[in-house]
Amino acid sequence: MSVLYDRVALIGLGLIAGSMALAMRRAQLAGEIVGTARSAETRAVAAEIGLVDRVVDTAAEAVQGADLVVLAVPVGAMGAVAAEIAPHLKPGATVSDVGSVKRAVIDAVGPHVPEGVHFIPAHPLAGTEHSGPRSGFAELFDNRWCLLVPAEGSDPKAVDRLRALWEAMGASVEEMDADHHDLVLAVTSHVPHLIAYTMVGVADDLRRVTDSEVIKYSAAGFRDFTRIAASDPTMWRDVFLTNKDATLDILGRFTEELFALQRAIRTGQGDILFDYFTHTRAIRRGIIQAGQDTDAPDFGRAKKAN
Ligand code: NAP
Repeated sequence: MSVLYDRVALIGLGLIAGSMALAMRRAQLAGEIVGTARSAETRAVAAEIGLVDRVVDTAAEAVQGADLVVLAVPVGAMGAVAAEIAPHLKPGATVSDVGSVKRAVIDAVGPHVPEGVHFIPAHPLAGTEHSGPRSGFAELFDNRWCLLVPAEGSDPKAVDRLRALWEAMGASVEEMDADHHDLVLAVTSHVPHLIAYTMVGVADDLRRVTDSEVIKYSAAGFRDFTRIAASDPTMWRDVFLTNKDATLDILGRFTEELFALQRAIRTGQGDILFDYFTHTRAIRRGIIQAGQDTDAPDFGRAKKAN
């Protein structure tokens, strides 16, 4: 693989930035990778393990001369970081991000991006419940989607180069409109995470069931919930605060359906339950028949990421 950007600056050195650094290194996609994080502790760990080529103290310093700048901090912190780096960006550079919500990031970052700098938001659909500079791994993006959300009129060459980077890091890339992205992610990721957080909270609340019993007798379902519910609290707080409308929309529909099923259970209407479950099973079969997924355990995925 050939070098796509002479210098890449990673702002934030957690799971996603760390995995990007390792994936870029795996395929030799960057001439130099410079990184920074908010705390001296994270910067020290990153330097100690050699996560990037050069660790610097500030975001302003990190972006100097960088051809690609990736904001890999919680969604709620993107605006402040963008304001800090704006005066130091190299003309012609590309600024991107990896935030889990796109409209809020565009609104927070967009106004700071100077003329002559390309802003191409992105979101890799890959992660684990781990965070911090030691949590990244080069394979995180392999066979995962990365959604690019370029504004209308974005420079096609800059978009193509970022697409090439994500593809070379192992991902499949598609472009999507920001609002649609936020709705799709509310359905596929954000609300499911909220349900997992709630379910684990409920289980903990039922003190009759000790922790060991919950884990000992749980099938994969609940154990998967506990894993998801161990995800970073800052990141997920920001996701819900910034994807408020889509999350509340989907959550409203979810609770309506839940109430309907609750009522069917209470009133003993087995036919309603049976029909509902038959319908959802048909949806799953339809997905497999359409070649969008496989019947294999764990969706036929290679191990490691969630
Ligand atoms: P992470 O491992 O917790 O790392 C976050 C990084 O951001 C750390 O280096 C942290 O610095 C820095 N940071 C935190 N708060 C900050 C602030 N207020 N100002 C400046 N820097 C700050 O997080 P991550 O999982 O890599 O997530 C980064 C981004 O990727 C988020 O926007 C998230 O929505 C998105 N994302 C996450 C996943 C996932 O599954 N984890 C998947 C796709 C996208 P310190 O260590 O010094 O505190």
